[in-house]
Amino acid sequence: MKNSNRVALVTGSTSGIGKAIALQLSDDGFNVVFHSRDSIEEGERLAASVPKATYFQADLSDQKQAKKLASNVLSTYGRIDVLVNNAGINAMIPHDSLKEASPKVWRELYEVNVIAPWTLIAETEHALRQSSCSDYTSSIVNISSHAGVRPKGASIPYAASKASLNHMTQLLALTLSPEIRVNAIAPGLVNTPMTEKWTDARKLWAEKSPMKRGAQPAEIAHVASMLVSSNYLTGEIILVDGGLNLT
Ligand code: NAD
Repeated sequence: MKNSNRVALVTGSTSGIGKAIALQLSDDGFNVVFHSRDSIEEGERLAASVPKATYFQADLSDQKQAKKLASNVLSTYGRIDVLVNNAGINAMIPHDSLKEASPKVWRELYEVNVIAPWTLIAETEHALRQSSCSDYTSSIVNISSHAGVRPKGASIPYAASKASLNHMTQLLALTLSPEIRVNAIAPGLVNTPMTEKWTDARKLWAEKSPMKRGAQPAEIAHVASMLVSSNYLTGEIILVDGGLNLT
């Protein structure tokens, strides 16, 4: 089967968007590595539920643990072909409450949303290059946010961290080509545990977006699968917000 010897690591994949992406890539034939910070039982259950999958726990606010996650994947499978940097944290802070967005908040968000993806990419670069071939280029998919493209979002530090991830995506697409393609998905509202209580956002999407609703995680996973299966697309930030950015 296509992709049957290929390996995909999806960070933050025991819930929400990451879980949907990991299950989609497993359906696409990949050996999938599930990962989370806390939900060890759910990670082990998911890994046992699909063929040739594994689960590793790591707190990505600690870069030593991020490095260990990369080395665990490489020592288990001897290769990696796809890295999906999905794990992320948010902070709900009104944009005009500048002091509430303290240096501590900025550092926490950057550690998980920006520096951990960087660490994982740096630690897997060599292996991603080695597994790449002309028919199947290796691929990195960063899950950013429409808040990193438009001046919006749950807080300014969150939006800025996702804008940073988008810019990193384009810089690395240039730097790591042609062996490794690097793209980002910038979702709008997605129905996940993170957004369960975001009633204003749900109302906004229902009333204003052309698609009249937020996305389901599987709809983001479908786009990730398309990006991974392309053999040419690189440096793109795909806005998946049901068209809200047009309004
Ligand atoms: P979620 O809360 O279901 O998933 C977040 C995942 O990140 C969890 O699996 C969690 O284990 C992991 N994570 C958080 N902190 C971590 C840490 N310190 N170490 C390791 N893992 C950690 O949320 P989701 O909505 O599925 O979000 C997934 C990604 O999509 C995030 O990067 C988020 O910013 C982004 N996003 C979500 C939406 C949305 O509407 N849900 C919109 C735009 C972007």
